[in-house]
Amino acid sequence: MANIIAKAMARVDAGALNDIFDNKPGRVEQPVVQCVNIKRISGQEPGGPERYRVVFSDTKNYVQTMLATAANHHIQSGALRCGMLLQLLGYQANNVKQRKILIVTDLKCLEEYGELKKLGNPEPLKVKPEDENTSHPTTITSNTFYGNSSNQHQQSMVSHTKAPTSSDHANIYPIEGLSPYSHKWTIKVRCTSKSDIRTWHNRNGEGKLFSVNLLDESGEIRATGFNDECDQLYPAFQEGSVYYITSPCRVQIAKKQFSNINNDYELTFERDTRVEKAEDQQDVPQVKFNFVRISELASVEKDTTIDVIGILRDVGETSQITSKTTSKPYDKRELTLVDQTGFSVRLTVWGKTASSFDVLPGSVVAFKGVKVSDFGGRSLSLLSSGSMAANPDIQEAYKLKGWYSNGGQSENFSTHASVTGTVTGGARSDPFKTIIEVKDEQLGMSENADWFSVKASIQHIKQNTFCYPSCLTEGCNKKVNEVYPGQWRCERCDKNHPKPEYRYILSVNVSDHTGQLWLSCFDDTGRQLIGMTADKLMEIKETNEKKLADIFSDANCRTWNFKCKAKMDVFQEEQRQVLSLSPVKSSHADEFDRVRYQVQAASPLNFVAESEKLVALIKQYNID
Ligand SMILES: [Zn+2]
Repeated sequence: MANIIAKAMARVDAGALNDIFDNKPGRVEQPVVQCVNIKRISGQEPGGPERYRVVFSDTKNYVQTMLATAANHHIQSGALRCGMLLQLLGYQANNVKQRKILIVTDLKCLEEYGELKKLGNPEPLKVKPEDENTSHPTTITSNTFYGNSSNQHQQSMVSHTKAPTSSDHANIYPIEGLSPYSHKWTIKVRCTSKSDIRTWHNRNGEGKLFSVNLLDESGEIRATGFNDECDQLYPAFQEGSVYYITSPCRVQIAKKQFSNINNDYELTFERDTRVEKAEDQQDVPQVKFNFVRISELASVEKDTTIDVIGILRDVGETSQITSKTTSKPYDKRELTLVDQTGFSVRLTVWGKTASSFDVLPGSVVAFKGVKVSDFGGRSLSLLSSGSMAANPDIQEAYKLKGWYSNGGQSENFSTHASVTGTVTGGARSDPFKTIIEVKDEQLGMSENADWFSVKASIQHIKQNTFCYPSCLTEGCNKKVNEVYPGQWRCERCDKNHPKPEYRYILSVNVSDHTGQLWLSCFDDTGRQLIGMTADKLMEIKETNEKKLADIFSDANCRTWNFKCKAKMDVFQEEQRQVLSLSPVKSSHADEFDRVRYQVQAASPLNFVAESEKLVALIKQYNID
């Protein structure tokens, strides 16, 4: 027995917990500790994920930890029991007010030591020296150590916090600890971004809302205030400041399609939610970034959300744009960023960020939550949930400043357009749309053409005019007329050919789950969709009508990714005006007032890539 205790003492990494919180160099990355208390957190509702509070000791110190739900199985299966040794494989250290909390995401039980009595004489982890004059961490006696003393412990710790108002913030939770089953709680968080007030009108009424992104050492969460709470709390928040937020406040499953924050839950402010600015603004981390270098953007898939930092090289003028979705005007401004990789990239900011932009060129700007598009090879757009920081107090910023003033500013910068412009089939954006979006957003109905991609299946191909006879001269493609048998005349080339080359002009009806659309295809796409040249198909048409019908029906029900250009048909428009002099039946009006959707390229589905996209999409709905 004495032998196994000696072995266990030797195995435990004494002092490791303190080192984790001090982030000392050379600390043990995955320390071995002893489990000295396990408690299921009360106040949970049936059906919800269980939460456990576990106390770990390294024989010198002990610390309260919150077990991430992913690690619950160790307790539920009975593998992790009081007194056992275990190795911490994944964890986050949090200083929440004056308490140190470890969030444990992964661990390994060391069965071979069994359940031992408490090793050593551990004391609670002390708060940092600069706080020592105001803090008196309590030790608890060893006879309550294994007992249900964690509530008592928590209260005695809190009663020693320094600010007079802090007694109101008794239950400070890390963001990671929030769930729909947590009842009374306060979080201490930094507001890392705040949206503008947005209004909506639909058949169920109208309303307004705003959202903030909140951060502490354990993670991030988004919070939204609607209507009354929007009026009440919008002025209370300022980007960059630290707040106490106290329940009642709804915690619910996050709608990830509206957020760039990685948290399963989000908050909705309620009438009695309390928001107070914290007296100390320092002990909550600043915005966390995960920067992508500008040269690396070429390998980032479009529509990915990333963080980027760079020197502001150029600031464009503000321009006004009308949203195709909401028909409302909003401001837009284009910035150019550069970094040490020798690349530059354009980044668009919107709304208030655009109109009130006052950062000087040459400054460092860091962006959190920008969307990557392939417009111009690669370009960036700040999401409404994203945020910007000018000259942030972080190491990357100082490095950039140093590089820029030591010669960086006289470098020549490459853009991504020259690298990838040809790959994407031209320097333009072609956002993925469903058919109903193409129609609802009235793509192609304004002065300029709109570009989009659509994934759709062929339902029908018009067979009466699928091709036309064209000139044989290379690059001409002009329609020719048979002026005499075996004499096909091209007016443009002023030349007769013995035969024409048939080229496709297909009119194809396609559909997806949202609707159907007529697309026009030229020769290249026609060959792909039909699987042979128009010349060959004309030959079949003249010899075997039955085979022709089979070929068209074979082309049906195939799904493609179409890259399209939407544009008002000018010729048809003129015709409509002429025709409108005489009464036109409304059912026909559509025929003349019509946008033409011209296919620029079609590609067969890559099922692996499509599946990955779908998996990502389904994940956003939180369906397990
Ligand atoms: Zn010609």
